[in-house]
Amino acid sequence: MRLFEGKVGLVFGVANDRSIAWAMSQALRAEGAELAYTHLPGESSARRVRRLTEEHAPKLVLACDVQQDRDLDGVFRRVAETYGAIDFVIHSIAFAPPQELRKPYLETSREGWHLAMDISVYSLVAVARRAAAIMPQGGSIVTITYFGGEKVMPGYNVMGVCKAALEHSVRYLAWDLGRKAVRVNAISAGPMRTLSSAGVARFDEMREHAARKSCLGRNVEFRELGKAGLYLLGEMSDGVTGEVLHLDCGYSIVGL
Ligand code: NAD
Repeated sequence: MRLFEGKVGLVFGVANDRSIAWAMSQALRAEGAELAYTHLPGESSARRVRRLTEEHAPKLVLACDVQQDRDLDGVFRRVAETYGAIDFVIHSIAFAPPQELRKPYLETSREGWHLAMDISVYSLVAVARRAAAIMPQGGSIVTITYFGGEKVMPGYNVMGVCKAALEHSVRYLAWDLGRKAVRVNAISAGPMRTLSSAGVARFDEMREHAARKSCLGRNVEFRELGKAGLYLLGEMSDGVTGEVLHLDCGYSIVGL
């Protein structure tokens, strides 16, 4: 019996085969999960995500800009019509205007700050509220954060502030949804080469430094994200909520 046989999940954040959400989806599908996908509106992302996910034969691949309540309502309505209830959600979404990551945090514009917060943080609240409504037996929601939300990582700027807010949102959502048996957790992933990380200034430097300093002497691997997802989204973590799991080869515990 596979770990996720009979379980249904909704995935936000697959852009391509390097996406963290895709690493998690691959592991979940291999364990028997039925997955519904969302992608950014637009022809090219629809085509890319449909082509990538077709090996999982999803019933639903839906366009969704998390800044649009109408899109979110539409996605959750279709998911409820198709499956009735779901068991888990992957929230693997972030965005900051690239120019905000190329100048000091001190220079962040009001507009850039609000945009980054809306897409990278408020979206978790908006998704969790709608997800909990179709998790009558309880469920698990996982988001992805980074150590730049705990400590200053030069160049990570407004995204670091977003991750701090995201991690504390995880705790407040865990409290609000706990009595409904809906768990909310985050994975704090070490730096990985993806579409999003390409926009972070000094990213390669961060990766080299992380590999050198971490306990395991290397960076985290794609398939390890999948395994951590299986743990937090499934029954093995039934008693865990409001937690930030550091998946960083031990980087964050070293004081050097
Ligand atoms: P990615 O570019 O593959 O994923 C980011 C996703 O966000 C994309 O699918 C994109 O379509 C989606 N997105 C952006 N704006 C959106 C909007 N308005 N509506 C809906 N979706 C939107 O990159 P990734 O590295 O896999 O990022 C996933 C998550 O992991 C992000 O939260 C990121 O901050 C976090 N993270 C990444 C790293 C890393 O080093 N790559 C490390 C720690 C945490």
